[in-house]
Amino acid sequence: MLERTYIEDVSPEDDGEETTIAGHVHELRDLGGILFVIVRDGTGRLQVVAKEDDTPELFETAENLDSEDVIQVTGTLEASDQAPGGVELAPTELTVVSEATDVPSIEISKDVEADLSTRLDERHLDVRKPSTKAVFSLRSKAMQAMTDWFYDNRFEEVDTPELSTAGAEGGADLFPVVYYDKEAYLSQSPQLYKQILVASGFDRLFEVGHAFRAEDFGTSRHVSEIAMFDVELGYIEDHNDVMDVQEESLRHTIRHVAENAQRELEELGVDLDVPEEDFPRITFEEARDILADEYDHVPEDDNDLDTKGERLLGEYFEEQGHPAVFVVGYPDEKFYYRQDVEGDDIASRKFDLLYRGQELSSGGQREHDIERLKAVMREQGVEPENFEFYLDAFRYGVPPHGGYGLGIDRLVQQLAGLDNIKEAILFPRDPDRLEP
Ligand code: ATP
Ligand code: MG
Repeated sequence: MLERTYIEDVSPEDDGEETTIAGHVHELRDLGGILFVIVRDGTGRLQVVAKEDDTPELFETAENLDSEDVIQVTGTLEASDQAPGGVELAPTELTVVSEATDVPSIEISKDVEADLSTRLDERHLDVRKPSTKAVFSLRSKAMQAMTDWFYDNRFEEVDTPELSTAGAEGGADLFPVVYYDKEAYLSQSPQLYKQILVASGFDRLFEVGHAFRAEDFGTSRHVSEIAMFDVELGYIEDHNDVMDVQEESLRHTIRHVAENAQRELEELGVDLDVPEEDFPRITFEEARDILADEYDHVPEDDNDLDTKGERLLGEYFEEQGHPAVFVVGYPDEKFYYRQDVEGDDIASRKFDLLYRGQELSSGGQREHDIERLKAVMREQGVEPENFEFYLDAFRYGVPPHGGYGLGIDRLVQQLAGLDNIKEAILFPRDPDRLEP
């Protein structure tokens, strides 16, 4: 394994130190007798200054470099006001590790706007761009913070199947797959498995997995294959306990990113606010009232908020210093949500979390009483007989429980300030894209 320094760890204070770096040739500038080679690794860029007079042989090698060659350079770090980042490398050894045999079809070192479709077609080149790489370094840091929070709070990680006979919600947006001599489907959500596991005694669990939605969308916030962060916990009082977990884990994640992904945020030009104050929790009715009173907007579907409604609510609360807001008590919800509870002044114990004007997660308290569960299923035209594998778990004692599913791609989209969710996914899938 090559002993080397990661470029983000180099600073002007290292003046006079000998070091080795490795990476791609990002940019070359020839000043006649002096050659600036900007080297890029996964963490940053460093200027290497080759001088013909000092190191003639090395200078000749450097003169023959091409963009995107992979090189390894050893030399002395020198603080310099003119160098980007205030430090540069005076090389004593330069090795070409691998040559680029072609000229990249998209600009890697210059900030030229390419359209998203071209960028995604050439994703392996696009990811070489520092601003694109920054999205995925930020994503990795966010996911680390998120999972850490759950491990630190006694949650266990589980893995449930992504192939099964029916979707969590039935529905038409399932991808069928040929499964030996049967028809199976790609999972839309681990919902039913999470509940089975809580019934079985996993009373604090989370799962990082993929969910598949065969929706025919044309929006900037939907994709066909979603990375999901799913959570379920038992022994709750009500849905507020679930919102507490969602709120604290998200605040922790945003704070971690703000503190530990400064380089990435700077690269992306994002100023990230940590929502330190309690997230407002408003009812579905209150949300509709705000939309009607403040914006004269009435979402078409009486039982939901639309995209415009979510965006307007986002603006309304962001102006008051709240980038995140819970909307609680959606009417007419899926069978597994606890609803019509005596004493509740809300329609169901289902909530959505809106973050920066976009739905980020859906969750709530689940129904744990098998008879009520079956009754609601029948009311909604869902045959309990088709869900034996799920209902079986409810015959043997189930703690009151709840949870949520959060779209990781949407979270990264918002943290990185991206217009389109696909920019937050390395190899996104949509109705027209199945490769790369
Ligand atoms: P939306 O109403 O925005 O289409 P949904 O209510 O259908 O989303 P849920 O079933 O509640 O989605 O899924 C939980 C979370 O997964 C959502 O809050 C969202 O963050 C994410 N998600 C759902 N569908 C998609 C999708 N097609 N593309 C990207 N993320 C999605
Ligand atoms: Mg939802």
